[in-house]
Amino acid sequence: MEIEIQLTDQTIAEPIPPPLHAGAAGAWMEFRGVVRGEEDGQPIRALEYEAYPEMAVREIRRILDTLAVQHRCLAVKVIHRTGRIPVGATAIYVGVAAAHRAEAIALLGGFMDRLKQDVPIWKRQALPGPNPGRNLASPSPSESRLLGRGESTSLQPAGGHRPALRSLDEALAEIRASCQPLPALRAPLADVWGRVLRETVCAPADWPPCDRSTRDGYAILAGDPAETFSVVDTLHAGDWKPRRLAPGEAVRVATGAALPGRGLRVVMQENVERHGDRIRLRRRETAANISFRGEDFRAGAPLLPAGTTLNAGALALLATAGKTAPLVSPRLRVVHFTTGNELVPPEQTPKPGQIHDANSILIRGLLQNYPCDLAQGHLPEDFELARSKIEDRKSEIESADVLLISGGASVGEHDFTRPLLQQLGFEIVFSQVNLRPGRPLILGVNGPRVAIGLPGNPLSHFVCFHCAVATALAGLTGGTGPAFLRGQLAAKLDDQPCPRETLWPAKLEWNPGGIPRLHPLAWANSGNVACLATANALVRVPPNQGSVEPFAEVDFLPLGAMLGR
Ligand code: AMP
Ligand code: MG
Repeated sequence: MEIEIQLTDQTIAEPIPPPLHAGAAGAWMEFRGVVRGEEDGQPIRALEYEAYPEMAVREIRRILDTLAVQHRCLAVKVIHRTGRIPVGATAIYVGVAAAHRAEAIALLGGFMDRLKQDVPIWKRQALPGPNPGRNLASPSPSESRLLGRGESTSLQPAGGHRPALRSLDEALAEIRASCQPLPALRAPLADVWGRVLRETVCAPADWPPCDRSTRDGYAILAGDPAETFSVVDTLHAGDWKPRRLAPGEAVRVATGAALPGRGLRVVMQENVERHGDRIRLRRRETAANISFRGEDFRAGAPLLPAGTTLNAGALALLATAGKTAPLVSPRLRVVHFTTGNELVPPEQTPKPGQIHDANSILIRGLLQNYPCDLAQGHLPEDFELARSKIEDRKSEIESADVLLISGGASVGEHDFTRPLLQQLGFEIVFSQVNLRPGRPLILGVNGPRVAIGLPGNPLSHFVCFHCAVATALAGLTGGTGPAFLRGQLAAKLDDQPCPRETLWPAKLEWNPGGIPRLHPLAWANSGNVACLATANALVRVPPNQGSVEPFAEVDFLPLGAMLGR
C-alpha cells in the first residue's frame, strides 16, 4: 500500500488530488476532521495542536502498515495540521484508495480510532471565543501570550482539553483523585512493616491482662502495717498461682510476674532484708510497683485507626494485642526506568560527556520506606527502541501498580516519556507543574495503575518524589500523604524571584518546645546533588517571592526519616 504522511502548520488544501493509484481504485474515500466552534460546552475560536513530528509520522505509518494487512487498500494519504487551527478549518485529512469501498471504509475507521489513542499529537489549547469585532487571524495580546511556546500551557491528549500548567496544589489534588486505595489484604505481622493499616484495630482484651509486678521484690497486702513477713510462695514471670495473702505474709515476685491477687503492693528487694523464709522491711515505699490490669488500654478501646502507617512501634502494639494478621495495603509493585544515552552505571567509568546514573539508586533508596517490589531498567533514547524494550517487559509493566520513568519528561526532541506512557494506555492527566525544581512532571493513569514521569535531574527527582510520588503512594495504599508543617528559617533563604513555586532543600532541626527551624541548603540548579545528602526538609517558597529573611515563618515538608518510621 502506498502511504503518504504530512504534518504541516499550513492550511490543508481543498480539494486534494487523489493518489496516483486512484485509477485502479473502485473507491476513493476522503475524511476531514474539522475544528468545531465548541469545546467542553464552551464556544471557542480555535484549537491549537502540537505534535512530536518524527514520532507522530512514524506512529501513523506503523498503524497504517498494520491496518493494511487486514484491509487491502491501494493508497493512503494523511495530512495532519498542527499549530493554531481556526474553527471550520481542517485539522486532519485522510484519503484512502481501495478496490472496493468496504476496505477503504474499514481502514479509515480503524485508522481514526488508533490515531487518537496512539499518535503523539495533542490538543494544546482551546482558545476561547467568539469575540465579535476581533479578527481570528490576528490574535489579541492575551491570545498571543496563550500561544507562546513554553508558556503556561499543558499538552493534553487530543481526546480532552484540560486547562494549563498545574500549580503544585492542583497537581497534588489530581494525584490524590487519581490514586485510589488498592484492595487490602491480611498479612502476617512480620511482613507488614511500612504498610498502611486498612482497618481500625480495637483491643480484644485488657492490657495488661492482670496485675503484674514491675519490680523484683515481695508482694504483700497493700495496707499491711507489719515490719516482718514470712515468704509463703515464689512467682516467676509466666507463673499463674492465685492465692489470698494474710497479714504478715509475702510472696516473692519477679518483674513481670502475675500477682497472686488484688489489693497488693510490691516492695522492692533492695528495700528488704531476707533471712531464710522471713523478710524485714528496711524502708516503706509509697509506690505500689504494679502495672494494673487494663491500665494501658481496656478491652474494646481503639488502638490504631485505619490509615496508620505501621512502624515498628505500631507492630509491637498489634503483637501485644494478639492481632497477628491485620488488614493492610498490599506490597506495591513498582517498575522504574531511567532514560538518557548519557548515563552509565555508577560502577562504570564515564567517557567524556557521560555521567553516572544517580536516579536508580535514589529511587531505590527513597522507596525503602514503602514496602514494594521494585524492578528497574533503562530505556534507550530512541522511541522505537524504547518501545520495543517496553514490549519485552510488557507483562511486568502491566502488572505494576506504579510506573516511574526518570528523565525524558520535558518537550525536547528526545523526550518521549509522554508518548511512551500513552502507548502503554495511560491517559495523561497533566504534564507540567509550576514547580521548581520539577516542572516537567507527568501524571498518567490507566485504571487503578499510575505512571509518573519525573524530570531527570536527581534534585528534581528528589523533590518530585517527596511531593508527587509520595502522594501517589499514599493514595494507592490508603495512607496519609505528605503534609506541610510550619517552621522558621534559621538563616536567610537567598533567591531571585521565580515565577514558579519552589520547594527549597533544607536541613530541619526540631526545636523542643518551639517552632522547627530550617537551614536552607545551597543549590544553584537542579543538576546539583551535594545538598541531597543533607536535605531532610523542603521549604515552600511562593511564586515570585525572591529571598526570605531569617526568622520568617515558612511552610515546609518534612522528609523520610523525619516522619518517624
Ligand atoms: P531529562 O529530564 O532527560 O531532560 O534530563 C534532565 C537532566 O537530568 C539531564 O542533565 C540528564 O543528564 C540528567 N539525568 C537524567 N537522568 C539521570 C539519572 N538517572 N542520573 C543522573 N542524572 C540524570
Ligand atoms: Mg534525557
